[in-house]
Amino acid sequence: MAALLRRSGSALHSSISRHARLAVVSRSMASKTPIGFIGLGNMGNPMAKNLVKHGYPVIAYDVFPEACKEFQDTGAQIVDSPSDVADKADRIITMLPSSLNAIEAYTGANGILKKVKKGSLLIDSSTIDPAVSKELAKAVEKMGAVFMDAPVSGGVGAARSGNLTFMVGGVEQEFDAAKELLSCMGANVIYCGEVGTGQAAKICNNMLLAISMIGTAETMNLGIRLGLDPKLLAKILNMSSGRCWSSDTYNPVPGVMEGVPSANNYQGGFGTTLMAKDLGLAQDSATNTKTPTPLGSLSHQVYRLMCAKGYAQKDFSSVFQFLREEENL
Ligand code: NAD
Repeated sequence: MAALLRRSGSALHSSISRHARLAVVSRSMASKTPIGFIGLGNMGNPMAKNLVKHGYPVIAYDVFPEACKEFQDTGAQIVDSPSDVADKADRIITMLPSSLNAIEAYTGANGILKKVKKGSLLIDSSTIDPAVSKELAKAVEKMGAVFMDAPVSGGVGAARSGNLTFMVGGVEQEFDAAKELLSCMGANVIYCGEVGTGQAAKICNNMLLAISMIGTAETMNLGIRLGLDPKLLAKILNMSSGRCWSSDTYNPVPGVMEGVPSANNYQGGFGTTLMAKDLGLAQDSATNTKTPTPLGSLSHQVYRLMCAKGYAQKDFSSVFQFLREEENL
């Protein structure tokens, strides 16, 4: 009986997939048809603007009216809900803060799934729990449409200049259709495997970034207390084995580099709250897979502590300032 259920389930699955793929052919042939975009925040706004620059008409929605107003100047059509976006566009990109927001935008009372067309391509670029991506993919497939997770690496600057890296999970045959759109917003579009693997790559990268940023901040702080000039110390680290992105591209010490958040009182960049969220996702995944991640776990606690102590809205490199304050307690 169980085997029968499995077989009929997979027959249903392949008939849905076939149906979806037929519709996909007509979808990708109409390459400059409108693109839906949901979530016009720090990242979504410049990403959607790059689609407009590439000649795509954009149908947009954000739950925050100010975000919509700011985007209206681009000539995009603003609608009232995610379901209205799905009514007008058969390729939709979502860029939302968290798993809960994504669940709401897809499956809520006025969510995308209320009016999604068969064969639509739905790409979620938010950083969320890979398990949630898989659940959303199942719900989307039941409607005869296709879901891919495509979280990004690179901050607001890369979103503006169209230089993001997309890590894409989902059915491989759909990758080219996704790449056509993602290439308007990113310099690298990398296929990672089945749905959820884009998120897996993203949260692994951010866990390493968090660890290396804390390591760079505490190393720089120790060197300064030992009497070293911070610029000189950064120069030596960057020509030695301690070099990493946090030391040579995004140094957390004010005065060491220009054009990074540490040069601007840690404004802009990648917020401490978002880093704490991503580390929480990494910890959930580590628990689910019984993977020991002692430094990832410690980093999560450090960033949560920072959120509780007034650093929530600052860039995550403000861990340097946080450590300096802690030592004065
Ligand atoms: P943000 O908070 O600036 O923007 C998110 C937008 O989504 C907001 O405008 C909000 O009003 C809107 N929103 C929330 N729920 C909604 C819903 N149900 N329907 C419609 N709109 C909704 O966040 P961001 O910085 O743009 O980040 C978006 C995602 O990208 C996050 O998952 C983040 O982790 C990831 N990310 C951010 C950066 C960065 O540097 N900011 C870098 C890489 C990845």
